[in-house]
Amino acid sequence: MDINSTKKLNNGVEIPLLGLGVLFCKDNEETVNAVRWAIEAGYRHIDTAAAYGNEKSVGLGIRQSGIDRKKLFVTTKLALEDMDPGKQMKGFEKSLQSLQLDYVDLYLIHWPMPGKTRDCWKVFEEIYKSGRARAIGVSNFAENHFVELLRDAKIVPAVDQIELHPHLSQQKLMEYCKKLGVAVEAWSPLGGKDGTLFDDPVLKKIAKQHAKTVAQVIIRWELQRGIVTIPKSTHQARIIANADVYKFELPAEDMKAINDLDRDPMRHGRDPKDIEF
Ligand code: NDP
Repeated sequence: MDINSTKKLNNGVEIPLLGLGVLFCKDNEETVNAVRWAIEAGYRHIDTAAAYGNEKSVGLGIRQSGIDRKKLFVTTKLALEDMDPGKQMKGFEKSLQSLQLDYVDLYLIHWPMPGKTRDCWKVFEEIYKSGRARAIGVSNFAENHFVELLRDAKIVPAVDQIELHPHLSQQKLMEYCKKLGVAVEAWSPLGGKDGTLFDDPVLKKIAKQHAKTVAQVIIRWELQRGIVTIPKSTHQARIIANADVYKFELPAEDMKAINDLDRDPMRHGRDPKDIEF
């Protein structure tokens, strides 16, 4: 495994296992620099969303990096306010325009929304067929949402991007997604901006044993579980360090010790199960 490692999605498209998240990054040099630094450090995957309000800066960072567009994997997500019938396609086109891209690699429904998700998915299928999204998927979907969506979906979502970190290991949902052929992506993989994982004694001990940081241990744990992970940072040194996770391996006992930190149902975000379809 190295920084170029990918996972094959259910339509054959390869998604890089490691990406940069940009939630709470401002629509200015903060995002532009983070994206450019990440690409310079070898990241080939950027995760944004219309709701983050920074797609313009993500696009600028990509252009400034000088990377060949085809070598990069860009994800964005439909804003909740654009999930109404008639607004979805415009929402997508707004994102392309902000990013200054002709296509995205992955387009996600950001959250399930009562009464709106199924109609939205039909538009996503159209977008996919038009070639302007190489893959389409969902985020914050629990089992009940998949059951409903798949009643009349023509395309099975390629991805479910969910809250996932050592305090929420999501083993059950991962197994369900595996059966459906849906790849799992971890959001807040380091426990989010107000998380407490960096102080966890088990993680600190493991990090010390491997002469790594807690962040590197967590990212490695996610990668070894086959999960796509998108840690966010706006600090160049952290962006570089978060990708320096390929020269060590967590043995089975460390993987188990981290799995045992699961505190489900403790979450940072809402529990999607409570959202009707
Ligand atoms: P993360 O779990 O990635 O944690 C980010 C926090 O950790 C920031 O405060 C960052 O600070 C800090 N951090 C990063 N690296 C290090 C390090 N090496 N050492 C110490 N601190 C560090 O949280 P996010 O919630 O941002 O999740 C990641 C991405 O997932 C988002 O950016 C977004 O793209 C996506 N996401 C998707 C959601 C969805 O609903 N689909 C919901 C939430 C997130 P600093 O920047 O100062 O370095």
